[in-house]
Amino acid sequence: MNIELNRLKSFTFWPRTNKQATPSNLAKAGFYHQPKVEANAQLAGQDRCVCFSCKLVVSDWTNKDHPWREHCNLKPTCAFVQGKTTNNVSLAISFAALPAERTDTVRE
Ligand SMILES: [Zn+2]
Repeated sequence: MNIELNRLKSFTFWPRTNKQATPSNLAKAGFYHQPKVEANAQLAGQDRCVCFSCKLVVSDWTNKDHPWREHCNLKPTCAFVQGKTTNNVSLAISFAALPAERTDTVRE
């Protein structure tokens, strides 16, 4: 889950409609979606997120919670939060690594 694109994909069934805790913001802040799997979990635990780097678990996101700020407050020692070298692959890098698409027509 060090790849931001894969973290983003983990939020396919994200149960919240919060303005700040969006799949995009969460993935950018290092989180991936790992809801509780117990049958009786109901909504509690359904918005459980885990940091790929420090394994911090955060759930019960409120409208005031911003993923990056929560990450910094709850785990200031996280290497990803501190901007240290991690194996994170940001979305920008994933797209940059895709082959370029030709938009012109080839004349022979
Ligand atoms: Zn972390």
